[in-house]
Amino acid sequence: MSDRGLAASTAAGREHIAGSPAAVSAEINTERMSAMRIDIVGAGAMGSLFGGLLAESGCDVHLVDVWKEHVETINDKGLWIEGLSGDRFIEVRAATEPEEIPGISDLIIFFVKSYHTETAARGMSSLVGKNTTILTLQNGLGNFETLSSIFGEERVVAGTTSHGANVLGPGRVCHAGAGPTVVGELSGLITDRTCELAQVLTRARIETDASDNVLGLIWSKLMVNVGINALGTLLRVRNGELTQGKHSLALQRELVEEALTVAEKKGVTLTHPHMVDEVATVCEKTSGNINSMLQDVLRKRRTEIDSINGAIVREGERLKAPTPTNRIVSEMIRAIEQNYAKQI
Ligand code: NAD
Repeated sequence: MSDRGLAASTAAGREHIAGSPAAVSAEINTERMSAMRIDIVGAGAMGSLFGGLLAESGCDVHLVDVWKEHVETINDKGLWIEGLSGDRFIEVRAATEPEEIPGISDLIIFFVKSYHTETAARGMSSLVGKNTTILTLQNGLGNFETLSSIFGEERVVAGTTSHGANVLGPGRVCHAGAGPTVVGELSGLITDRTCELAQVLTRARIETDASDNVLGLIWSKLMVNVGINALGTLLRVRNGELTQGKHSLALQRELVEEALTVAEKKGVTLTHPHMVDEVATVCEKTSGNINSMLQDVLRKRRTEIDSINGAIVREGERLKAPTPTNRIVSEMIRAIEQNYAKQI
């Protein structure tokens, strides 16, 4: 059983370093990290990828997922990861109920879809001790707030990741994309806790920095999702097509510009000065990709619309910033979800 948690000096923090991610503290003891007890809640594509990589690096990892067949396959045969980081089985334990897992966590990473965050979090109390840190690397808005309301804001660290993964079947995932991961305190302080977290993830081949502007990173990633996901889904096209026609490009600009006004009213400092152009550039760089919302709709699954364009509408209402285009695309995606059974 473990309850030592991440580095103790979380509240005091380090000196605020403006601008860029912090260099990770060299003082952190690597022996402490290898024994770190990490539980992953939501072991689908991303949860399995992160859990597998952390287990390979020597951490004591448990995966928690309600998908029984997936959990049983992982426990019987191991977790299969293929793709960018290599093709192999990884030995890692999995459970459908947190009560099946002995002891408590140093770190719980949430990787459920955002609409499952609250239900999943409410079931995890048996894993939480006084020093447990909660990390969300999920997309969209609202996850930090939901987790803070359940576990207490002081426990929760947020971040973004540019890694990508897909589920291939029970017990099998594909590591489809790699890129930077960033973690940070919402306060903007660079703390020992976020530095240690970055080091633990980096050691697991998930290159991570601690940032003093995690809110800006979350909102900047949100801008990309706002400009790509719902539009690509409604048009049923790969990312690259969105910037090819003048009508889709104009719609994308409106979606992102509305979201930028909301971000500005909220006082968020984005990581990119020209976000509209940046979203178009991402479309070009990922031209062959089918965005995750379109993948969900093609499988007739619930989407994360409420934490992407829907969240812009909610925040816009609160801050008195009009968001008519985001409102319409959100309602259209919800209408598509409602009509899955009747579609011709
Ligand atoms: P996923 O659907 O593959 O995995 C989610 C898992 O959560 C599923 O296996 C599901 O069974 C499980 N789950 C649902 N309810 C649960 C509960 N109550 N308790 C435990 N497990 C539960 O989703 P994903 O693609 O891994 O995405 C997870 C999050 O990460 C999303 O917010 C997504 O936007 C974000 N994200 C995804 C990618 C990607 O490439 N897939 C990249 C970056 C961020």
